Amino acid sequence: MRQPWRVAIVGGGITGLAAAVRLADRAPAGTEVTVYEQSGVLGGKLRTGELAGGPVEFGAESFLMRDPAGGESAAVALVRRLGLAGDIVHPSVGQAALVVDGGLRPVPGGTLVGVPGDLAKVTAVAEPAADADRDAGRPLLAPDADVSVGALVRARFGDAVVDRLVDPMLGGVYAGRADDLSLATTMPALARAARVEHTLLGAVRAAQAAAPRAPGEPVFGTLAGGLSRLVEAAATAGGATIRRTAAVRELTPTATGWRLTVGPTRDPELVDADAVLLAVPARPAARLLAGVADLAGAAATIGELDYASVALVTLALPRPELPALSGFLVPATEGLLIKASTFFTTKWGHLARPDGLALVRASVGRYGEEASLQVTDDDLAEAVHRELSKVLGVPLPAPVARHVQRWGGSLPQYTPGHLDRVAAVRAALRGAHPTLALAGAGYDGVGIPVCVRSGATAAEEIITALGGSA
Ligand SMILES: Cc1cc2nc3c(=O)[nH]c(=O)nc-3n(C[C@H](O)[C@H](O)[C@H](O)COP(=O)(O)OP(=O)(O)OC[C@H]3O[C@@H](n4cnc5c(N)ncnc54)[C@H](O)[C@@H]3O)c2cc1C
Repeated sequence: MRQPWRVAIVGGGITGLAAAVRLADRAPAGTEVTVYEQSGVLGGKLRTGELAGGPVEFGAESFLMRDPAGGESAAVALVRRLGLAGDIVHPSVGQAALVVDGGLRPVPGGTLVGVPGDLAKVTAVAEPAADADRDAGRPLLAPDADVSVGALVRARFGDAVVDRLVDPMLGGVYAGRADDLSLATTMPALARAARVEHTLLGAVRAAQAAAPRAPGEPVFGTLAGGLSRLVEAAATAGGATIRRTAAVRELTPTATGWRLTVGPTRDPELVDADAVLLAVPARPAARLLAGVADLAGAAATIGELDYASVALVTLALPRPELPALSGFLVPATEGLLIKASTFFTTKWGHLARPDGLALVRASVGRYGEEASLQVTDDDLAEAVHRELSKVLGVPLPAPVARHVQRWGGSLPQYTPGHLDRVAAVRAALRGAHPTLALAGAGYDGVGIPVCVRSGATAAEEIITALGGSA
């Protein structure tokens, strides 16, 4: 292998940047890493913006502090690696609400993404089915099986727990339905426990015990100044050459590695690399793989992954009457456009404003309901304002400013068997082209910590494939 290595990272989201940092830390000195990002900005779904003179996240807002398997999350480890651990801040208000029959009820404690570990605690929101969670003398899930979250929880705790609790909580993250989403991908710790435990209550408790949390320990964190600081710090620490507005349009194997076609069709640039790390969503990755003769099958498999579109509407409201909540989640059965709302300046106390202006963010759009987003920004903002007033039961003041961020095709809808399909694709790549790796939300999970880990793992695979010792 020629020295120094040339590694191309396609995609400048958090996955690609975490991969660049890992390459900087573990690849031989002198390795040339280039990140190709098609848009003009790095960060992908991480984007800190400003509204009415205050910072607000136009994309992802926070990261889990803990890994579901125990220990600190990969996002916290990256923040620490970048010297930003002292800037982690936590929500000042942790309590969120659920909309139930048009009104707000506190989200019950002791659940795992809405799946109860104590049925008595959820009865104010949803009445669990009686006696359905019986021990049938075998684990809930066979060793390699997967199932939708909804199917498992409906069978064990009944429809109300799914519709009023699990569905809105999963929907808040994936904009998808519990009945469609893979347990193994969206709730890996529960899936692991379900392969051992005979009841769902037992599995939830086992999953919770595997990652015990000290009383008062914060679940989420973000960075003072916003998540774009994480993006900037990772881009700098990775030491990679960053190429913005540089879409990679084609990937061709060569005798020694890869040739990338970069930039506009009329004026393409051809670049050679020894290894390529694809850190783009599944569809663009599938398009690039489809051009490699022996990877058409792998391309078709990952190209099947569907995505939900959402929009984040942020309103700047002068002194509104807001309850002391971090926000609320809305079950699909309530018939509202809003699926989740964050009282941004209440939840993040460090952003509270002396002038009393509140930033309220609403997430709209559910998988399969893309038509609801096909209206103007003004109409979307008006609908959000109307629904917020209705849910809160008070007429909210008119916003002094608003921002609408559309995230088309942004949230992967992992159906049961997703992880097996990804494992098969990666095995095909390792066999035929070990210097090509796949990472990111399209494969390993949607959360920032999972994306960071996915990028770092792919970087180590590439180091191994190029003959280094990761
Ligand atoms: C609205 C919203 C809110 C979210 N909130 C949270 C949250 O609070 N906490 C959390 O943990 N997670 C959250 N997530 C999920 C999380 O933000 C994402 O899963 C994660 O950021 C994805 O990172 P990624 O790098 O894998 O992909 P992306 O962020 O999609 O980055 C991929 C990059 O690749 C670029 N690209 C695509 N094709 C090409 C090409 N051909 N050539 C070059 N570049 C290309 C894209 O422009 C993009 O910049 C949220 C997601 C959304 C949509």
